[in-house]
Amino acid sequence: MSLLVVGSLALDTIETPFGKAERTLGGSATFISVSASYFTKPVRLVGVVGGDFPPEEIEFLESREIDLEGLQVKKEGKTFHWHGRYHYDLNTRDSIVTELNVFAEFDPIVPENFAKSRYLCLGNINPELQKKVYLQMKGPDLVVADTMNFWIEGKYDALMDVLQYINVLIINDSEARELSKEYNLLKAARKIQSFGPQVVVIKKGEHGALLFYESEIFFAPAYPLETIYDPTGAGDSFAGGFIGYISKTDDTSYENMKRAVIYGSTIASFCVEKFSIDGIRELTHLEIQDRFNEFKKFSDFQAIELET
Ligand code: AMP
Repeated sequence: MSLLVVGSLALDTIETPFGKAERTLGGSATFISVSASYFTKPVRLVGVVGGDFPPEEIEFLESREIDLEGLQVKKEGKTFHWHGRYHYDLNTRDSIVTELNVFAEFDPIVPENFAKSRYLCLGNINPELQKKVYLQMKGPDLVVADTMNFWIEGKYDALMDVLQYINVLIINDSEARELSKEYNLLKAARKIQSFGPQVVVIKKGEHGALLFYESEIFFAPAYPLETIYDPTGAGDSFAGGFIGYISKTDDTSYENMKRAVIYGSTIASFCVEKFSIDGIRELTHLEIQDRFNEFKKFSDFQAIELET
């Protein structure tokens, strides 16, 4: 089924304890659309880049069969730039620089044939722009969104406003606490559900993810990895795998969302094994399927009742 993705396309500078990469391909829409492209076609992109965006990265997105009709190229402007630095434990990071550049003036235009897309993923971006995109759509079946502390702190009212249109909010644990003003994650999820989204997914990095579907709760582990090079994009590739699988199967039931959470975790685990987007540039379906199956083994056990 058709999927429309909006979000940032970026040139990132990333520092981890293992190295540094300068002006490398990043952005929420980039990670989401590439991840989703392993599951569903067509994936359609709405976003903006500047004249400095490398032509070979446009070719890469095209090679993943991502439809770029909604991508604006502002020749005179500069691409969104983010500089992140990870702490030694890789669970915490500081945003050293966030330069909106062409995103500051961005007026998203959803092309006529994109507006009927059945699934919509509003990647991390100014919530006012998320709403502008939503309002141009012709009644999508499911709207999934992501956000981050930068917008919770800077655009709280606009974020609360857009939440009423969102069916599934995917958010990490610290952001869920910040948005809900609740420390306990169960309470945080329930409160966020009361803001609009019926479904809330809380990502807990290497500790997995929680799916709150109406009154149900499902817990998914993270794939145990010995080497994590760069966590950048883990959240977005999770979202891309999640919505990509739902769009492929055209099924928004609780059972199917559980599988979608595991496919999301699978793609995120490939993402963090290499720098920037390199971990998900070229995956095979067999690699994805093998790792998905391993997830089942990790948490599958035979329940035996206690003898009395
Ligand atoms: P994640 O690690 O999944 O949270 O996503 C990292 C990506 O988000 C990076 O590639 C950044 O370019 C992008 N990013 C960082 N800050 C922002 C922001 N304020 N708005 C939109 N995208 C951002």
